[in-house]
Amino acid sequence: MKIIRDIPSLRGQVRRWRGDSKTVGLIPTMGSLHAGHLSLVRQAKLDCDFAIATIFVNPTQFAPSEDFDTYPRDEARDIALLEEMGTDLLFSPDVGEMYADGFSTSVSVSGLSECLCGAARPHFFGGVATVVSKLLLQSLPDRAYFGEKDFQQLQVIKRMAQDLDIPVDIRGVPTMREDDGLAMSSRNKYLSPEERSVASTLYRVLQDVAQKFADGANAGAALAEGVATLRATGFDPIDYLEIRDSETFEALKTDNGKARVFVAAHLGGTRLIDNAAVPNQVVS
Ligand code: AMP
Repeated sequence: MKIIRDIPSLRGQVRRWRGDSKTVGLIPTMGSLHAGHLSLVRQAKLDCDFAIATIFVNPTQFAPSEDFDTYPRDEARDIALLEEMGTDLLFSPDVGEMYADGFSTSVSVSGLSECLCGAARPHFFGGVATVVSKLLLQSLPDRAYFGEKDFQQLQVIKRMAQDLDIPVDIRGVPTMREDDGLAMSSRNKYLSPEERSVASTLYRVLQDVAQKFADGANAGAALAEGVATLRATGFDPIDYLEIRDSETFEALKTDNGKARVFVAAHLGGTRLIDNAAVPNQVVS
């Protein structure tokens, strides 16, 4: 695996590959890799001739009070995992390479960015949309891969690429979970053993709300019951537990066939997010 830390070398390598009529898939990450990230690499390797992973802990998507300084970093381990997956190139720039002195531009996606995580973390999607548009323009891949674990982020990035005419196919990849259902996340490392033992309640609540909604139960009652279960488990605060349209993020009271349940809640000092599709109703 080639390791590149500067933009001109990245551009040169991708230009050579694409000049040979090869296809390139990009997998942006913040490192601290787990099987969820590696499933994106696997999908890119299946679809494309070459897979490029990026590792960049992006300062502009963290608020001053958040965990930028303590975010887990272990590049040597990440490199070994990416090598094992047959990743062709790692792009791992430093902050100065991505944000040169005088950097003054930001990409903001209105609408989709304003609800759910955007309401709880107003700085977040601007930072993500800016860094992902930079990574896409630096590498000009054929396809770029993002996890459904961060479903709102995936939709924001699709909108951004379409609106800015960035010639890339944005692909979503299903969420990888631990055996008990907890969505894999680099931040799960922050959980104490006690917190970890109850964290999968988040997914159970999502599934429960999704099933009740599919069965035609009152949405408000299903959500209130879900919030009560999370509180009783120790989640506090709960940023949101909501049912929304998976494309527009419009709030829903009845199933429109594209409904999805979204949750973000804090357990101890750790903010966890997850989401689940509302299953199709079986019509008998
Ligand atoms: P991160 O390093 O957390 O910024 O994530 C990098 C990419 O990996 C994003 O597209 C995430 O949505 C994706 N990702 C993170 N966790 C998972 C997971 N459990 N399953 C699938 N994709 C994931």
